[in-house]
Amino acid sequence: NDINILLDRCNNCGLCMKICSYGAVEFLNKKVIINNNCCKCGICIAACPCSAINFIRDKQPILSENETHKGIWVFCEQTYGKAKRVSYELLGEGRRLADILQVNLSAVIIGNNIGDEARKLIAYGADIVYKCEAEILENFNDEIYIDTLTNLIEIYKPEIVLFGATVYSRSIAPRIASRLNTGLTADCTKLEINSDNRVLLQTRPAFGGNLMATIICEKKRPQMATVRPMVMKALTPNYSRKGKIIAHTPIISEKLSTKVIKRVKHLSSIKNISDAEIIVAVGRGIGEAKNIKMIEDLAQLLGASVGASRAVVDAGWLEYDQQIGQTGKTVRPKIYFACGISGAIQHLAGMSSSEMIIAINKDSEAPIFKLSTYGIVGDIMQVIPALIEELKTRIA
Ligand code: FAD
Repeated sequence: NDINILLDRCNNCGLCMKICSYGAVEFLNKKVIINNNCCKCGICIAACPCSAINFIRDKQPILSENETHKGIWVFCEQTYGKAKRVSYELLGEGRRLADILQVNLSAVIIGNNIGDEARKLIAYGADIVYKCEAEILENFNDEIYIDTLTNLIEIYKPEIVLFGATVYSRSIAPRIASRLNTGLTADCTKLEINSDNRVLLQTRPAFGGNLMATIICEKKRPQMATVRPMVMKALTPNYSRKGKIIAHTPIISEKLSTKVIKRVKHLSSIKNISDAEIIVAVGRGIGEAKNIKMIEDLAQLLGASVGASRAVVDAGWLEYDQQIGQTGKTVRPKIYFACGISGAIQHLAGMSSSEMIIAINKDSEAPIFKLSTYGIVGDIMQVIPALIEELKTRIA
């Protein structure tokens, strides 16, 4: 382990045990030890009143030339036995990278009753699928996922492991990276291979989205990244593709600290923007909350979902689930209406891949016009009602 207990200083007060959220500190033979649950967050070091805990600094920083890590892995997150869309997107990107590196692309899927989905992952580009099934995995359990994935990575030694930047995967990827003593780049929007040294170039927005940083993990394997949903493109599934499915028994510790008692579906009146084909997005230009009704009317006529800039969400006029951009959702609809949105770089980060962008703004210099397919310079309070009227006559 990378955390060291100085037993001559430790007075067995147990503070480190109480403060650790991962159950990683325990007593064994009357001595404090750190177990494999440790994610090296260092909270026990800060809490120890006797300075009896410290980090052991890195011992082997240089990757050996004979490094045996090979292949690209995609962790395919699923719910109710169905992989999330981002899993297919990552397989599409993983396939491209694997072809450049001339290695296999493998998918890992963990859950219950996932046999059909495993076959589907091959259609979406995987050469090998590692399938880990157990009844307890009907629901997500971070401890089992982390133990199982870490173990599989240690056995098969892939050179790259990709995760979707989703709530679940974000909660496990850093802890797996920490256990494997390797790096993780969060929230990537672009991946490439340096053809000189096979290193993964992991690009993500930095400094509030004002610049793009390309991060490399030169000396450790695997290279790990989480990738934003809706950024990469899934391949068209080819059900005649051949691949191998390898079943593995998940690692289920006897000392699980969490148990899922019941799963309750979140009911929301909001139409999910992530998969929407048409989005009518609204910005601060709408002026006040009551004017949003007009945007909702337009969306309803178009069969669209309503999205928002952060300014609108911060004002409390729409919900966070509807925020599009760097700190909101990434979307890629066929048509994106930007109504009274200036086009700040953080907003563009979430919608610039839309197939068609129609911007309505009273300022002809607004940056959104640089990206838009069609631009209407005008007051949304006049343009939107006119659009609604026109649509009504066409639908009638
Ligand atoms: P404004 O920039 O105020 O623009 C309003 C626009 O409406 C103007 O162009 C104006 O000309 C036009 N307008 C005004 N009245 C009318 C009218 N009657 N008719 C037509 N046009 C009109 N923002 C996001 O959206 N999503 C994010 O995820 C996000 N994440 C961020 C993360 C960080 C770290 C930071 C620092 C910022 C983030 N932001 C994000 C905020 C972002 O920088 C902008 O402040 C925000 O996008 C502005 O929203 P807006 O375009 O609605 O408002």
